[in-house]
Parts: sequence; C-alpha cells; structure tokens
Amino acid sequence: MSPHHSLTRLPLRIALGGSLAALIGLVAYRLRALDRGGALAAAGTGTLVFAAGGLSWSTSMIGFFAAASALTRLGGARKRALAVLGREASRPRTATQVLANGGVAAALAVLHLLRPGDRDYTLPYLAALAAASADTWATELGVLSPSPPRSLRTGRPVPPGTSGAVSLLGSLAMIGGATFVALLAPRSLPRWPVVTAGSLGAILDSLLGATLQARYHCSHCQCILETPQHDCPGRARRVSGLPGMTNDLVNALATLAAALFALLLATGQESRRRSASAGS
Ligand SMILES: [Zn+2]
Repeated sequence: MSPHHSLTRLPLRIALGGSLAALIGLVAYRLRALDRGGALAAAGTGTLVFAAGGLSWSTSMIGFFAAASALTRLGGARKRALAVLGREASRPRTATQVLANGGVAAALAVLHLLRPGDRDYTLPYLAALAAASADTWATELGVLSPSPPRSLRTGRPVPPGTSGAVSLLGSLAMIGGATFVALLAPRSLPRWPVVTAGSLGAILDSLLGATLQARYHCSHCQCILETPQHDCPGRARRVSGLPGMTNDLVNALATLAAALFALLLATGQESRRRSASAGS
C-alpha cells in the first residue's frame, strides 16, 4: 500500500480505530485493568495503531493487552500477600504505565503512517510489543514462582517481583510472552525476528532493572523500594541506580531496544536478499 493511498483513507481509519479503541478502553476501565488516564492513553495508542496498520496491527496490540490484563489478575491473592516493593498487585494501570509499554509502538505507528523512506515498520512495531509482552508475562507469572528469583547483580535470592531478578518460571514466561505476540503477527511475516528481538528487549529490561534502575531504602520500615512513595511515615532515600530511572522508563527503553534490533534484522535480511538477487 502506498503512503498516498493510506493517507487518503486516514480520516476513516481514525474514526474506525478511535471507536474500537474507545470501546476497549471503556471495557478495560470498567474491569479495573486501567485507571481513567490509563484508559485515555490506551485509547489514543489504539487509535494510532489502527490508523497505521489496520486490523493486522490492532490484533497483536489487543491480544497483548488482553493477555497481560488476564495474567495480572492471575494469583491475585498470592500477589496481594507478597505486596512486593511497595507496588500494589493487580492495581489498575496508569497512563504512565500504558505509555511505558505502548509508547514506542505508538511512535512506530506514526512512522508507519508517514513512511519516511517508504519503509515498513511492522516488524519493529511487533518487536516493541513482544518486548512489553515478554516483560509483563515474566513479571506477572514469575512472581508466582515457587522458588525465589535470583538477582542478576549479586546472584543471591531476592524477594519475588524485584526488578532485575530472574527465575526459571519467569524466563519461560518471558519467551512465552514474546512468542504469543509473534503468533498474532500477520502470516506474511517471519516469526523468529519478533521472538528474538522481543526476548532480547526483555533481557535488557532485566539487566537495566538490576543495574541502572533507581532503588530506594526506607529506614523507618527497613524496606527496599522502586519508588520513594510508599504507605509509611518514613522517607525513602535512593541507595542505587540513577535518579529518574524508574521501572516505567526501563520498560520504555527495553521496547525501544527491541524495535531497533528488529529494524537491524530486517535491514540485514533486505540487503542479503538484494545481494542474492543481484548475484543471480
Ligand atoms: Zn517505610
């Protein structure tokens, strides 16, 4: 499809996508999967994605979101009992969290619409989504692991849900989350670059979580936190990581890395195909 063609039908695509995305945002808000801001951010992202890639792009986004919301609810009682690191389990997702997971995908939708260099951005889009899915599955399922995860930094067992900690269950869930998005990809596309780029993004997420992500310590309740705010009169101080390097920013960087990696894979394939056809 030429950019001209897609742009002439843009108002129709925005109207259709906007209605679909608003409906899904409303349902997610009613189900308490998203808060008000989260629902608005999701509706905006969904509209862009539909305008750019139609149903084939939207299917993978909706599938990712539905599976992630379902997994968040899984083992709710156990997650509440853990109440890891000041994060409340199964709380509706905010706009910041939605954009951390879907912002890069939304930006790629805009690129796909404008088509600089007449490039197809489907593969990087799917890779960004696969990385977000891999990280969400790893977190939501990994937290239910029977054995505690180990920190990538120290190798020692740490509380479930700690950023930058890995378990066998979490690692399998990570690959599962990336594969799930790859299976929802259009049939014309190879699946392995989506799984590979998505998994690499999620691995980078864990590495950044173990190293550069900010961690706080509260001397009042003697707990390690990912955000300074928590239900306690004590004040938490940053003990490691970079200021402003939140879990959300780490998620966004991981999806960006996955998209760039998929772009590299696609470019490599393209040039191999070109040299093969030039040689024949
Ligand atoms: Zn405290």
